[in-house]
Amino acid sequence: MGVYVECKGLDSGVPDCIYVDAMLGWLARLLRILFGVRVVYSPSIGDSELAETECLVVTRDEELFKRRRGPAILLKTDSHVEWVAVFIALGMRPFERSRCPVCGGDLAEVDCREAETAVGHEIRSERCWRCAVCGRYYWVGSHWRRLRRLVEEAGAVSVECRRNG
Ligand SMILES: [Zn+2]
Repeated sequence: MGVYVECKGLDSGVPDCIYVDAMLGWLARLLRILFGVRVVYSPSIGDSELAETECLVVTRDEELFKRRRGPAILLKTDSHVEWVAVFIALGMRPFERSRCPVCGGDLAEVDCREAETAVGHEIRSERCWRCAVCGRYYWVGSHWRRLRRLVEEAGAVSVECRRNG
């Protein structure tokens, strides 16, 4: 199984911030929780801002990709497994750190009893975290196990980055 993406401007590695275009909201959450990167995602980011930023731009828009001068990836696939494979192939490491998937804030580890009190139900997890910005709580639950499976499946996918400009 292989996936091809068009990419440019990535010879010196992946910048530590990533702009994700408006059609890729799920990818924005994935990049925050799985790789802990700074993600700028907003349905209202204008094309001119996307064309000029220093960050890596991930887009499905071929016209935007062509106009773009800095680092960019044209990501056509809808497969979440392939998305993960692409970012691992670029040298990013899953599960080393996380950010809040909703707002991108830093996560601080907290006592799971605090989290249980806050969310109002039992949490079966050894570790719990709270977002320093929006206050949401996170723990190792079914969502986390799905991410682990995604990463395992992504390990079997080969990725070719077709250089384009
Ligand atoms: Zn948050």
